[in-house]
Amino acid sequence: MVITPSVYTYFAALFVGRRDDYALQAPNGLYRRVGRPLTLDVLRAHLDGKQTIGTYVLNDRQACSYAVMDADKPGGLALLAHTQRTLAADGITSYLEQSRREGHLWIFFQKPAPAATVRGWLRPYCPDGMEFFPKQDYTDGYGSLVRLPLGVHQVTGRRYPFVTYDEHGYIEPVAPTLHTMLEWLRHIESVEVPTLEVVKPRSTRITHGVVNKKRSMTQPVTSRPSSPYTMITDWCAQQDPIALIGQYVELNQQRMGHCPFEEHHDHGEDRRRSFKVFHPTTPGGMSWYCYAWGKGGSVFDFLRLYYQLDARELWRRIQSGARF
Ligand SMILES: [Zn+2]
Repeated sequence: MVITPSVYTYFAALFVGRRDDYALQAPNGLYRRVGRPLTLDVLRAHLDGKQTIGTYVLNDRQACSYAVMDADKPGGLALLAHTQRTLAADGITSYLEQSRREGHLWIFFQKPAPAATVRGWLRPYCPDGMEFFPKQDYTDGYGSLVRLPLGVHQVTGRRYPFVTYDEHGYIEPVAPTLHTMLEWLRHIESVEVPTLEVVKPRSTRITHGVVNKKRSMTQPVTSRPSSPYTMITDWCAQQDPIALIGQYVELNQQRMGHCPFEEHHDHGEDRRRSFKVFHPTTPGGMSWYCYAWGKGGSVFDFLRLYYQLDARELWRRIQSGARF
C-alpha cells in the first residue's frame, strides 16, 4: 500500500494532540508512555499496523483540536449516532468511528481551543455514562489519551472504520479501504469553537454580603436552542428568586441580605441587611426590595442592575442561553 507523505501530515494535523510525546498500546490493550516525539515515521508504523499509538489530547498549552465522546456500553454506537444528529441540528459537524466495543464521536476544531472552553460547550451534549475527551480542564501531567484512529487494535487485531449510521440503524464505512478512508479524511469539516464572552460584574472588590462564587457571567455564543420563554415576565415567573438572587447575595433565614447596590447606601455600603428577597405575589413580578432605597424589582431587574446591562442586552443574552 502506498500512502503519500501529505496524508501523514494531514492525519497528524487532525488527530495528534501533544506532539512531544505519545503512548504505545500493549497487546493487553493498555498504553505506556514512550517519552519521545510523535514523528511521521511513528504515524506510518501506526497506519501500517506495526504498532498502535495513543495520543495525548491536550497540548502543552492546555488546548485541544478536537473532542471525542467514547461509548463502550451496548447500544452506545446508536446513541452516538443520535448525538451526531443533535449536534448537526445545532450546526456542529461530527464524525462517527467504530471502536472495539461501540464507537467514538469526533468533533474537530478550526484551531486549538482551551480544554475548559471545549468542555463547557460540548460536554452537555455527551450522553450520560459516556466518557468525554478532553477529560480535564487542565492537567499537570499528560492528561487524557485517545487511540489514534485507523490503526490495528492490539487486543482484537482489527482496524475500525469511520462509519455512517442512518436512522434505520444501517452502518456503513465511509470508504471501502484504508487508503480511500485516509483520502476521505481530507474532506473532514472542522467547526469553530465559540468564544466565551465574559462580562465583568459591576464591582470586582469583595463586599460583605455578596457571595464570591458567581461574580462573572459567561455566555457561550453557540447555536443552541434559544430560550423557550418569549416574554420577560414569563421568564421571571420560571425563576426561583430565592435561589437565583441567593447566588449573588448571601441571605439569612428571613431572606434578608446586604444590598449589593452600594449607591443606595451611605458610605457605599449596606451595613444593615436592607435587602429582602421573596416570592412575587404575581408571577414574574417584584421579588426583591431594598428598604434603604425604597424600591425593588423582578429577578430580571436584579440581573440588569447587577450586571449594569440595558434590558434589551440582558434579554438578548438570556435568549442566547446565558445561565444565571
Ligand atoms: Zn440597597
